Amino acid sequence: MTLAPRDDLALMPGYHSPQVDVAVRLNTNEAPEAPPAEFSRRLGEALATIEWHRYPDRGYRTLREAIAKHHAVAPEQVFAANGSNEVLQTVLLAYGGPGRHGAVFEPTYALHSHIARITGTGVVVGGRSEDLTLDLGEVRRVVAEHAPEVTFLCSPNNPTGMAEPEETVGAVAGLTPGIVVVDEAYGQFAPWSALGMVGDERNVVVTRTFSKTWSMAGARLGYLVGPPGLVAELDKVALPYHLDAVKQVAGTLALSFTDEMRARVAALVEERGRVTAALADLPVDVWRSDANFVLFRPRARDGDGVWQALLERSVLIRNCAGWPRLEGCLRVTIGTRAEDDAFLAALAEVLS
Ligand code: PMP
Repeated sequence: MTLAPRDDLALMPGYHSPQVDVAVRLNTNEAPEAPPAEFSRRLGEALATIEWHRYPDRGYRTLREAIAKHHAVAPEQVFAANGSNEVLQTVLLAYGGPGRHGAVFEPTYALHSHIARITGTGVVVGGRSEDLTLDLGEVRRVVAEHAPEVTFLCSPNNPTGMAEPEETVGAVAGLTPGIVVVDEAYGQFAPWSALGMVGDERNVVVTRTFSKTWSMAGARLGYLVGPPGLVAELDKVALPYHLDAVKQVAGTLALSFTDEMRARVAALVEERGRVTAALADLPVDVWRSDANFVLFRPRARDGDGVWQALLERSVLIRNCAGWPRLEGCLRVTIGTRAEDDAFLAALAEVLS
């Protein structure tokens, strides 16, 4: 084919996280366990009631109400889509686009700028401080220079792991007249949530996902809580019937397993403490994490080499070594105790 894609896409790299067959897969921050057996049993029953020849409920009312109830907000404040990535894309389709800008503070989740570019939104990049925390002076500079329509925060931040302090998110919301998207894909692992900042007249929206804490990465379901006026705009932009019937049923059912989810989060947080402590005994620098992954940097060996040596031992983690400001860094997802032990043993061997 000779037709070229849009000029602004032609040189853009895709987003890749290798999917390879390994014994220990700790590279994409998924939950280490499948959902509870009772969930799968009841989902099987529910699937038998789906009217396959009909389009699904376009407004996904049951799921929307269940999410709203889970967060004690109104259904009109909830927008759901196929993964929180699609939620972010919908925000940018409605509020970004040509002539508009989205701001990110690197290093942060790569898809914020990637999706912005795909939607034709200009990307303005601010930097984080030396310790990888958000620098309000830098936010002020970026907002004053570019007046971005959308500002992305990620709390806890991927790949660094740290949650933004509440005062920082409040300050950013006060600095910009645009929308502040607080991506809380890992929000349940953190000590606080920006959900309490969402209000009808405020510019804060919070995105969440079923991919991590809910053990449902395979389902592709994420959502946003925001002002009803903004949600109504997102509803206009979403394709008709974008949420299939299976997903609507699965998401609604998952929310009736909240106690199990919280217990799993608590166990992962404890395991995170164990892995962080074990890493601290190895010749690596480790960052504090409020999420289900930990960022670290081998002191004496190059990150690429360590990543490759782990892969040769059938342990796959995330290689951030070549990312701006993360030279030599690697990120490991908290898995089961056995997976984490396998990772720690392999890492100790590689570094010895
Ligand atoms: N936000 C962040 C910060 C993430 O790390 C991820 C997953 N890697 C997502 C959003 C996307 O999640 P989903 O599976 O819901 O699209």
